[in-house]
Formats: sequence, structure tokens, C-alpha cells
Amino acid sequence: MAKNTPVQHVCSFCKRLITIHDQYDMPILDPQSGFAICRNCIKDIYHFIEEHDRHVEEDHKKDFAASLESTLEKNKPHLIKEYLDQYIIHQDRAKKILAVAVYNHYKRMKHGYETDGGTEIEKSNVIMLGPSGCGKTALLQHLSKLLDIPFAVTDASSLTEAGFVGADVEVAVRNLYYAADKDVEKTEHGIIYLDEFDKIARKSGENNSITADPGHEGVQQALLKMLEGSQVEFTARGQRKHPEAPTIKVNTQNILFIVGGAFVGIDDVIAKRLQKSNANIGFGAKVEGEKDKATFDELIHQVTPEDLMKYGIIPEIIGRLPIICTLETLDENALLRILTEPVNAPVRQYQKLMAMDHVELKFEEGALRAVAKKAIERKTGARSLKGIIEDVMLDVMFEIPRSDEPRRVTITEACITKGAQPEIETIEEEPTSQSA
Ligand SMILES: [Zn+2]
Repeated sequence: MAKNTPVQHVCSFCKRLITIHDQYDMPILDPQSGFAICRNCIKDIYHFIEEHDRHVEEDHKKDFAASLESTLEKNKPHLIKEYLDQYIIHQDRAKKILAVAVYNHYKRMKHGYETDGGTEIEKSNVIMLGPSGCGKTALLQHLSKLLDIPFAVTDASSLTEAGFVGADVEVAVRNLYYAADKDVEKTEHGIIYLDEFDKIARKSGENNSITADPGHEGVQQALLKMLEGSQVEFTARGQRKHPEAPTIKVNTQNILFIVGGAFVGIDDVIAKRLQKSNANIGFGAKVEGEKDKATFDELIHQVTPEDLMKYGIIPEIIGRLPIICTLETLDENALLRILTEPVNAPVRQYQKLMAMDHVELKFEEGALRAVAKKAIERKTGARSLKGIIEDVMLDVMFEIPRSDEPRRVTITEACITKGAQPEIETIEEEPTSQSA
């Protein structure tokens, strides 16, 4: 194409004769077939596509906002709590806090899809403190079953700072991405639960029983970026990390974070602080050595952001976890209720299993109490209840299927405390799974 003799060509679309000065006058030109598209037509097509995409996006937002409307209706705080009450005994305050946090999370999502702008609703991440076996994980597992949004649990103690051996913090987002069936948009509105969060407290915290390694402050710094809202990049599962590996990008700005842990020793931190403030009004001398008077529960309900800082959580992280939720230790009576009351209570589960073998399974009150006592002795709370029963039930579950005869199996107190054999008797009628 000589510069001084501009050629002319007809646009295959608008049929105009175009004088071609450079390739931008006729960006598409196939000399062989003569097919050509002029710049005006290309611009028109481009605007047409843009307009279309804008409409699709708007419709998508409208649909989403509408679906959220019904989600909000179904997930009012009192309804979430009622659902959790079926499975979790006690922990009323924790249930309320989580119910409100989830409801507000949906509200924020809806607000994000509305175009009016205005007041920005900030995220309210939650930190949960509760002794092991108080039902933290169970609470969140049941909550996740109720939710329409993806939910993923990651063990914070398994995370390491980039460069250390172990899982990078991005793994938490990657787990959520897979819980969202690899849908990035869904991932960006999900909930991440970081369990064992106390295990990443730094060593310089006042609590000496924590043996944190130097990587822990780095993990907290990396998590902070995620909590603040950042673009997180990770490779697909099973994909080796190398510079050319394709990555998935997820913005964490709208992800709700719930972190939880036993925070062993935080009661000491709280007690010390209370001692200091009491010292000023003359109670100081009395408290030393009488710490047992203030129970763990009484102390932990008074936890402040300052205590968490002393424990070894960096202040910036604490600032991103505005809602502090403490759980109660479960006593013998509470464990007794957990054994029998929830719809999925261990006793009910074994009764159902045994009913399939034509067996009516009975637990003496003393047996259940002994199970609860054992769990308290082990300091494992509700977590070990099922295991204790499983131990006793093993022989029964092994021997019973030898015959199809309807029978009644009674677990006595001695079965739990002395390893005695359960009582087995033949009965006339086949039991229903509901029999207690
Ligand atoms: Zn044209």
C-alpha cells in the first residue's frame, strides 16, 4: 500500500466506498476474497456488544437481588436460631450472634447489588472463644447446612507464611472456591471459618503456654490482608505452584470471616487484668491463689480486645474481628441433654442403627450420666460423647446381627464404668426406631 496513492475499497457491511490511508480505515480486509469491514462498522459492532453485555449484567444483578429477597425472608435471625436449637444444646448467645451475623451478611450482599450507593455497610467478622468440646464446630457445621452460600472450614494452625513448609493462607479461599463449585462470584460472597485460630497467636503474647513458631506473626499478617479485602490468587487443587501455572483470582472484600478457638490460657490473661484493676480499689491481695473461684466461663465472658492482644493476636486483626462471641463450658447436665435431645443425638442414632437389626436399644439414666462424667474427665466436652458410646456398642453391633430375633439391649451404668456386658433379652414385638 503506497502512501501517496491511497486505494479505495467497499465495506462488505455498509457498502460505503472507503478511502484507505492506513490499516485503521479498513481494519479488516482480506485481499483474496475482497471481504472488508470499515472502522465505523467495527465501532458500531463494538458498541452493540458492549450494550448487550451491560444489559446482561444488569439483569443478572436484578435476578440476584430478587433471589436475595427470598433468602433474607428465609434466614431471619429467629429462624436461624430455631434451626440451630434442633441440633445444639445451650449456647444461646452464640447462636444469636451467628444468626444476626449471617442475616447481616445477606443484607450486605443485597446492598452490594443495589445501585443506589449511599451508606456502605461494613463487614462484621466474628471471633468465637470457647473451650474444646463446647460445640463451636458443630454449631458452624449445622449453620453451613442451612445456608445458601458456600461455607468452608480451614484449620488455621495448618497455615504457614508464604515460603514456609505447609499451606499458604490462600488455601482458606481455595477451600471456599471448591465449596462454591468453582464459581468465583459465589466464592466472593461465602463464609470462611478459621478453626484453631488461637494456635497462630504469636509467642510474644503474655501467655507462655503457647509454643508459637516465628512464622505465626507472618501468618497473621497474611490473614490480615485477606480480612481487609484483597485479591487472592491461587492455583487449582493438585496443580503444582510454578510461575506459569494458571491461577484463579478471588476478591475477599465481601467474604465473611468467622474465626474460632479454645484460647487456652486466656482466662489467666483476663484474671490478671481484673486483678490489676481490682488492686486499685483494694481487692488485689485476695485474688492470688483464689483464682479457682472465678470459673473459666465467668472470666471468658469478660474478654476484651486488649486481652486478645495480650494473648498474641495482632491488633490489626482484632480490629477486623469486631464481634466477640464467647461460648459456655458444657456441664454434666448439658452433656446429658446432648446425648438424647437433639434430632441427631448420639443415643437416637444408635437406636436407629439397632432398630434395623430388630433391636430395641435402651440406656439407663445412670449409664448416660456416666458417659457425661467420662467426657468431662477427659476434658473433651461433647466431642467424645459419641466415641464413649461407640466403645460400649462395638461388641453389641458385632454380635447382634448373628440372629434376626427381636431383642432388647440395655446399656447399664456398669457397662460404662466397669466394662460390663450389656443386658440382652428376647422380646415379642419388633421395635420401632422411635422407641427410647
Ligand atoms: Zn462499513
